[in-house]
Amino acid sequence: MTRIGLIGLVGLFFLGSAAQAQEAPRWSLAIHGGAGVIERANLSPEQDVAYRAALQQALDAGSAVLAQGGSALDAVQAAVQVMEDDPLFNAGRGAVFTAAGRNELDAAIMDGTNRAAGAVAGLTTIRHPVAAARAVMEKSPHVFLIGPGAEAFAAQQGLEQVDPAFFFTERRWRGLVDALTAKGLPIPERPQGAPPPPAVPMAANDPSAPPLNERKFGTVGAVALDSQGRLAAATSTGGTTAKQWGRVGDVPVIGAGTYASNADGCAVSATGDGEFYIRATVARDICARIASGATGRTAGQAEVEDAKSLGGLGGVIVMTTDGVPAFAMTTSGMYRGAVSSAVPSHVAIYADED
Ligand code: ASP
Repeated sequence: MTRIGLIGLVGLFFLGSAAQAQEAPRWSLAIHGGAGVIERANLSPEQDVAYRAALQQALDAGSAVLAQGGSALDAVQAAVQVMEDDPLFNAGRGAVFTAAGRNELDAAIMDGTNRAAGAVAGLTTIRHPVAAARAVMEKSPHVFLIGPGAEAFAAQQGLEQVDPAFFFTERRWRGLVDALTAKGLPIPERPQGAPPPPAVPMAANDPSAPPLNERKFGTVGAVALDSQGRLAAATSTGGTTAKQWGRVGDVPVIGAGTYASNADGCAVSATGDGEFYIRATVARDICARIASGATGRTAGQAEVEDAKSLGGLGGVIVMTTDGVPAFAMTTSGMYRGAVSSAVPSHVAIYADED
């Protein structure tokens, strides 16, 4: 379709297109593990295999819920939690570091049936930020909690707490040191509780090493339709490397990085340059386009292009009430996958894969 690695390319995929010929899926799930400059030349075969296996695990966790008649909300949470625990992704364990050398985690979840939503930002000790977002939605009268207050609330709800060092990975620490060095900013002390620096540098093909020339966003997300026709979306991230001043991106901003509405017939999770995805109100606008008759595919394409016209790259996953997932991106790759009751699971990385 297009040349591999062409940045600015809009890649569109209908992983579920085969399903159209068959009966409509009773349930359906799509996930992403971040979009960005992801090219074959920069990913070792070991890394390629590791990412695909990690995506498959997340699909398995979400589809197990849906196949048993579980809810779209439980499915998106289950899929996202698997990726939050996986150090390959920039969410939960494996999140990028702030300029001060901390992991500050953001997440959101939304129930399409009633447009209930929950979001958290700046968490440092809650193992599964998406679970905290869900607790905000279901157990508080609020939508969005931040920082120490959000953590106190999550702890009160009995969510699993961890030492901040739980989120540490050598790969992300290296990424921070490189980013701060490039900007001429001071390097903070290695966090307390982090393992000692490795004596031997990580091999380039180590699955836990960063892909070469890594410039990717790495957020994780899931959208689902369940067998009762309910739509839901969830997204979780560490944000951007070397972020400062309490910066929060699009992920926990309802309507920017996360949105679901059965009334509109759509659920969206985004990954990309958060500042631009906020300004373009990407997720909400995709749903508005779908409500006006656009397909998930055309709505997703139009909105990632709109964010690009402002200067932001990234990608989205879109679920519609027909259970056909759509993927759109303005980057050379997006870790992604889909599965439904009608179409076997499939994962993809590069923009030209279908
Ligand atoms: N959108 C996220 C943010 O701006 C970054 C990402 O997608 O990885 O925080």
